[in-house]
Amino acid sequence: MRKQIVAGNWKMNNDLAQTEALISKLKAQTKTTDAEVMVAPTFTNLYQANKALENSTIEVVAQNMHFAENGAYTGEISASMLKSIGVNTVILGHSERREYFNETDELLAKKVDAALAKGMRVIFCFGEELADRKSGNEETVVGNQIKNGLFHLGAAAFQDIVLAYEPVWAIGTGETASPEQAQDMHAFIRKTLADKYGNDVADEVSILYGGSVKPANAEEIFSKPDVDGGLIGGAALNADDFFAIVNAF
Ligand code: PGA
Repeated sequence: MRKQIVAGNWKMNNDLAQTEALISKLKAQTKTTDAEVMVAPTFTNLYQANKALENSTIEVVAQNMHFAENGAYTGEISASMLKSIGVNTVILGHSERREYFNETDELLAKKVDAALAKGMRVIFCFGEELADRKSGNEETVVGNQIKNGLFHLGAAAFQDIVLAYEPVWAIGTGETASPEQAQDMHAFIRKTLADKYGNDVADEVSILYGGSVKPANAEEIFSKPDVDGGLIGGAALNADDFFAIVNAF
């Protein structure tokens, strides 16, 4: 059975004190589902966050990393550095990384390789922009992002890959893809995987939906057969809201 996952992407929010305060509130919450729970604080707070959540079921994950092992890449963070503080999962290819930091499919393929080579799990994000959807090109765009970012991998690599479909027009806008739109795209994504790697691989990969998921809409979105969880931005900054989403399965 595929894993159900709810991951909170805190983006560039929360200084150290705010991170500690939010973690205390998260630790006071009760999980009533089998969903795996992850939170992604900013780099400077990963170590503290991981220590604070050591004996909990909440995994601390990174929002990004560089593909190089180490060296002259001022300002960057490597997979080994993340591993050395106990962070074993990384979000790659978030639309904000693609848009504001010019991360291309080609670059992301290298980051994916670097993370997998270190035994990390990758949450690989992709999604179309509004113009793509308006012109009916959303499947082409999403299909290409998946092929260019991941299809150089062998089938076994997908044991360590989680996919996150995040239509750019739904991120932080309050505009959610309808549960049907999410299901249609997730089914397309699974078929794209099945065509390349076979049904056994496609059926095992968790595909998360992201984009304005809130307590009020999570249950309906998560009820769709190909939606295996969520990547949550804004609502993950509030412990009650985040756990209402975790418990929406
Ligand atoms: P949002 O962000 O939930 O605030 O729309 C989702 C994301 O960017 O992962």
